[in-house]
Amino acid sequence: MKSKSTKAKSTRVGKARQKKATNFNIAKFQFEEAADCLGLTDDQRKLLGNPYRELVVQLPVKMDDGRLEVFEGYRVQHNAARGPYKGGMRYHPEVDLHEVRGLAALMSWKTALVDVPFGGAKGGVTCNPRSMSLSELQRLTRSFAEKIDLIIGPQRDIPAPDMNTNAQTMGWFMDAYGKKHGHTPAIVTGKPLALGGCAGREAATGQGTIVVMQQACKAAGVTVKGAKVVIQGFGNVGSFAALHAHKLGVKVVAVSDVFGGIHNPKGLDIPKLISHVKSTGSVSGFSGSKPIDNEELLLMRCDVLIPAALGGIIFEGNAQKIKCKILMEAANGPTTPTADKILAENGIMVVPDILTNAGGVIVSYFEWVQNHQMFKWDLKEIEKRLSDRLATSWKVTYERSKSKKISLRTAAYCVALERVIEASKARGF
Ligand code: NAD
Repeated sequence: MKSKSTKAKSTRVGKARQKKATNFNIAKFQFEEAADCLGLTDDQRKLLGNPYRELVVQLPVKMDDGRLEVFEGYRVQHNAARGPYKGGMRYHPEVDLHEVRGLAALMSWKTALVDVPFGGAKGGVTCNPRSMSLSELQRLTRSFAEKIDLIIGPQRDIPAPDMNTNAQTMGWFMDAYGKKHGHTPAIVTGKPLALGGCAGREAATGQGTIVVMQQACKAAGVTVKGAKVVIQGFGNVGSFAALHAHKLGVKVVAVSDVFGGIHNPKGLDIPKLISHVKSTGSVSGFSGSKPIDNEELLLMRCDVLIPAALGGIIFEGNAQKIKCKILMEAANGPTTPTADKILAENGIMVVPDILTNAGGVIVSYFEWVQNHQMFKWDLKEIEKRLSDRLATSWKVTYERSKSKKISLRTAAYCVALERVIEASKARGF
């Protein structure tokens, strides 16, 4: 993972983000809005608004140069009324308990909205993976698996990839868990295919973003073919979103990563760009494109803007200048509550993260089912099931939003909260 430069410059986006609301505050605000809409009692708010369990662990790792580095890791289990806890693990220098707490709550609402039988959790390690070698990352991941071993399990809590973690990370994690518990593929999802991974899982979040985008375009009167799309972040989610959009004849006119952005008003050749990123480690310098600042990219006039990197990047400082028709939240928590209000006043359709990026957890669910049953569906079957489930989730969200005259976000939260409450009541809470 040592790519391009180990000292990536702190972008303007990164600096601006520090001044903004955290994922936790964003998730809390959105929960309270829906709780007000549903008229939840104080007891219900206490039960659903706070995590069930939080674990902070010390992760000593021997670095390649012989030094001992001690990292901090977190696993937050938010709610398991509807099934085992489920959520990714993120490696990032800015990760802390507060952020992981917010992301864990989002997972509870996401799994409920798309009706997969899981609860919500999230994990993270404060580290800079770009400055670490593969062997250091492997030792870190194995240490994390050992330290959170007590609270996870295939029927208890199932991690998955998130920012700066991938199929390889899941392979190491599964292997470390298996040393103690025996071969247990269902302990993680997003694994390599050779270890029981699922066809289509790697692409699922980005692909799902585009499935939902097609529905949103229909509702907003935007023609998909030829639509202008801008994407911030070109990792797992951003690159697959770009690829699937490109296949539909969408013009992806600008993309960015942590090193900066590129644009071409005629549309970027996404398959070629993906090869360029594989060989150079960044979108920068792609032939036939012009450089663009990460902050400017967010403000470009376009039909669809897809933030697919960090949280809190659309905030009161830039929301007024956002010029898209539809904002697809592929990243978790990219829009602060203040920005959300400004976007609504400006008539921008915001499709919330818990719907837009739910493709990943849906296919994770398929992977988990297949691991338990010891069989495999083919890619065609997975893609059909993914599209059907997202289309149903869009429909229920859109109809609630129209019938109650509330935002898509509040509608999505209301549907999710009702389902979690129903399961909690059925358990006797
Ligand atoms: P990733 O690590 O694969 O890619 C992240 C991308 O964002 C990279 O291109 C990176 O260079 C870019 N980036 C990082 N900091 C940036 C900055 N300051 N400005 C611009 N670009 C920046 O991560 P991912 O798995 O693609 O996750 C992206 C987002 O999607 C996260 O918010 C994550 O929580 C969310 N998400 C991911 C999944 C999944 O299945 N991977 C599922 C649901 C939600």
